[in-house]
Amino acid sequence: MFASSTPPSPAVDIVPLGGLGEFGLNMLAVSCGETTILVDAGSMFPEADLPGVDRVVPALDYLDDRGGRVAALFLTHGHEDHIGAVPYVLPRVDGPVVGTPFTLAMLDNKIDEHGQELGQRRREIRPGDSVAVGPFRVEFIRVTHSMPDCVALAIHTPQGVIVHTGDFKIDYTPLDHQPTDLARLGALGAQGVLALLADSTNIDRPGVTGSESDVKDAFDEVLATTTGKVVVASFASSIYRMQLVVDLAAQFDRQVAFVGRGMVENSEIAQRLGYLRVPAGIAVKDSDVGSVPPGDLVCLVTGSQGEPQAALSRIAIDDHRHVSVGHDDTVVFSARAIPGNEKSIGRVVNHLARRGVDVVTSDTRHVHVSGHGSAEELKLVLALVRPRYFVPVHGEYRQLARHAKVAQAVTGGTDAPATVLLAENGHRIRFDHEGGRVVDSVTTGRVLIDGTGSGEVDGEMIRDRRQLAADGLVVPVVVMHRQTRARQGVPELVARGFVPEGAAGDVLADGAAFIASVIDECSAGERSDEGLLKERIRSEFRRFLKRRTGRRPMVLPVVMEI
Ligand SMILES: [Zn+2]
Ligand SMILES: [Zn+2]
Repeated sequence: MFASSTPPSPAVDIVPLGGLGEFGLNMLAVSCGETTILVDAGSMFPEADLPGVDRVVPALDYLDDRGGRVAALFLTHGHEDHIGAVPYVLPRVDGPVVGTPFTLAMLDNKIDEHGQELGQRRREIRPGDSVAVGPFRVEFIRVTHSMPDCVALAIHTPQGVIVHTGDFKIDYTPLDHQPTDLARLGALGAQGVLALLADSTNIDRPGVTGSESDVKDAFDEVLATTTGKVVVASFASSIYRMQLVVDLAAQFDRQVAFVGRGMVENSEIAQRLGYLRVPAGIAVKDSDVGSVPPGDLVCLVTGSQGEPQAALSRIAIDDHRHVSVGHDDTVVFSARAIPGNEKSIGRVVNHLARRGVDVVTSDTRHVHVSGHGSAEELKLVLALVRPRYFVPVHGEYRQLARHAKVAQAVTGGTDAPATVLLAENGHRIRFDHEGGRVVDSVTTGRVLIDGTGSGEVDGEMIRDRRQLAADGLVVPVVVMHRQTRARQGVPELVARGFVPEGAAGDVLADGAAFIASVIDECSAGERSDEGLLKERIRSEFRRFLKRRTGRRPMVLPVVMEI
C-alpha cells in the first residue's frame, strides 16, 4: 500500500564472462549486493593458430574487481564448454559447486587430474531441487540435450526470476525417457519471468532439431549391411549415442568395445551411475578386440574430430594397439565437424579410404543429430517463458542477433514481446527499479593454458606469455621428403628464452638427434601425416626436455616438405 516508502530491492547484475560472440568458454556471473554466483565455467579448445596451447579459459578480472570470491558455482551440464574451466575457477569458490549426478561425475575426473578436490563443496542436485545462496534461490529444471542429466536454471532474485536454459533441445522421445520440463517453464512464465537467457547455437536452422532416437534407422542399416566390423566415432560425452549403438549391437548379436581413454572412462562412469545400460556379456575389453570375429563386433572410439592423439587417427594409419580396419569394415562419424576441424577429419577419412574402409558421415546418412534446439524450439521456449527481457547467449554475434530478431516476433500471448538486450562478453546488464539495461562493460578476455593446469598464460600473443618468460620456446624444424616421407638431414632447433645456460648447447644438439630418432621410429602412416608427426614430436620432445632440464618450454614443431 505504501510502496513508495519501502526501500527498493537491491539491483541484480549479470555479466557474461564468455560464450557470447564465440562458441565455448561459457561463463556467467550473477551478482546482488556482496554475493556473486557463477553459472558454468567452460573452456574451449584452442584454434589451430595457437599451437602448443592446450586450453583457453575466460579471464577472471571481473571477479577480482568484486573481491575475487564466488559464493557458488552452478553447472548446467557436463560438456567441456561448461565445466572445462572449473579447475581454474575452483580456488575462488567458497560455497557449493552444484550440479546433477552425471555432471558432477564428469567434473570429478577433471578435478582429480588437477590434484584438486571439491570436498564439502560438492552439492549434488536433481531437477526440481533448489539451492539458496545469499539473496538467490536457484531452481533446476530438466532439459534434453546430447548428454544425460542436463538442467536449465531458474534463478530467483530480489528483482525477479531469471531463466537460463543452458544447452538444450526439445526431445520428446529421449532415450532415457526424461524429457524437457516444459510444464515448469510454462508455470514460471505464467507467474512472470524477469529475463530469459537462451542457447542460440542452432537459431539458423529452421524447424526442429529432432530426437536422439532419430539416428536409429541409419545405424540399423549400417549394422545390417556391414559384413566386417563397425567402428563408430563420436564424442566420448555422447552417452545417448553410446546407448543407441550398444542396444543395436545387442540386437545384431555383436559385441561392443569402448576404445580410447575418453570412451572407456565415460562409459564406465555412465554405467556406474545407471545412465548407460550394457546388456550382460556383450562388452569386450579393447585389448580383446583382436579375438572377436570382425562381423561380431562394434567399436565405439574417440577421434571424431580427427584429433591426432585419439584412437581413430591411430586406427586410420594402422598404428593402434588393438583395433585395425580394412575392406569389409565400416567407420561411422557420428558427430558434427566442429568448425576448424574439417581438415584433420578429412585427413583421417583419406587414410581410412586408402584402407578400403566404407566411411559413413552425417553428410551421407542420418547418423548424427544435434543437441541444440532449432528455431521452432527456441520460439517455443520464448512463448512458454514469456520474459520481460531476453538475452541471447551461446553463439557468435550473428546467431545472437538472429535470435534477438526471432524473439521480437514471438509475442507470448497477450504480453508484449520481450525487450531484447543484445549483450556481448563483459557487458554488465543491470536489473533494478529502472528496469533492465546494459550499464557498462567490464574487463574480459581469454587465458591460454599450456599443459594440464601447469602454466597459465596471460594475453593473446604467444611471445608475451608468462609460460614463455619462465620456460621459453623451442621450435624444432623438420624437413621431410614429400614423396618418400623420409627425414631430410638432422632437425634444426630454434630456441628463445630457454634457460639452462651453458648446458643449452648440449641439450639442443642432443635434442636434435633425439627428434631425428623419434621421426625414424614413426610408422609410415605417422610420417605421412603432418598433424600426427607434429604431435608425436611435441609430446616426446617435451618429455625429453623435462627429463634433461626440469623445464617445460613450449614446443612448436614445424614440418617442411621438399
Ligand atoms: Zn552442451
Ligand atoms: Zn555448450
